[in-house]
Amino acid sequence: MLIDTHCHIHDDDYPLDIEQVMAHAHQAGVMQMICIGTSSPNSQLAMEFVDNHDGVFASVGVHPHSANEGLGHLAEIIRIGTSMGDFSIKAERSAHKLIAIGEIGLDYHYSDGSPHDVQKIVLVEQIKLAMQYNLPIIFHVREAFDDFWPIIDGFINAGQQIKGVLHSFTDSQKNADEAIKRGLYIGVNGYSTFTKDEATKAMFAGLPLDKILLETDAPYLTPNPFRGKVNEPAFVRSVAEFHGAIRQISTEQVENITTANAQKLFKL
Ligand SMILES: [Zn+2]
Repeated sequence: MLIDTHCHIHDDDYPLDIEQVMAHAHQAGVMQMICIGTSSPNSQLAMEFVDNHDGVFASVGVHPHSANEGLGHLAEIIRIGTSMGDFSIKAERSAHKLIAIGEIGLDYHYSDGSPHDVQKIVLVEQIKLAMQYNLPIIFHVREAFDDFWPIIDGFINAGQQIKGVLHSFTDSQKNADEAIKRGLYIGVNGYSTFTKDEATKAMFAGLPLDKILLETDAPYLTPNPFRGKVNEPAFVRSVAEFHGAIRQISTEQVENITTANAQKLFKL
């Protein structure tokens, strides 16, 4: 069984038929997937979507691109989504569909995005919510690691344990090492199957399997050999196949280890 740990198939403008997408996923052995909120309204949408689909879970959060909008109703969404049982008891928790906070982080790629100071404040507020509810975090960090690590270390140095994943990681070996040092997982998707950058390829090939989570980020970043199509959770199998091939091990080994990683982090 594979888990797509990051997709956006709940979005209003996701272009494919959802029942077909679910059928494709199940045919490919992708039995669970996590729908990722990107703003307060989009997180609400994710919660409603996962309520109606078996094996689909939600992560709620405000993406750095939406930081200017503030947290909106996010705290209320989390309170309601986590109020149905005792989160420390797995059997009760499996009834829950809200399993993480994210995607949250810093993105300095676009000069017209939310101001960096606003992004930082919104990130810190959401890490505090994750700590309060003891939830893992799905981070989106792009061209902003120099500001990201001091924020994370502020929490760690205050005795907090940050559990989470750097989703869609495409950065340097150094930042991969920094993440692993802090106990974070590295989320890999279709990007790893088509990048031509030699240093990035070497970084992906060297990641320890027990630190990897597989994802699609559908509808974005469609992996080889499906480039040109709209991405969907079924294609996470191609990402697994690719990471087996570059390590000269079976897809099954990649599947077993990365699925166990996701189950452990998100208590699935
Ligand atoms: Zn995403």
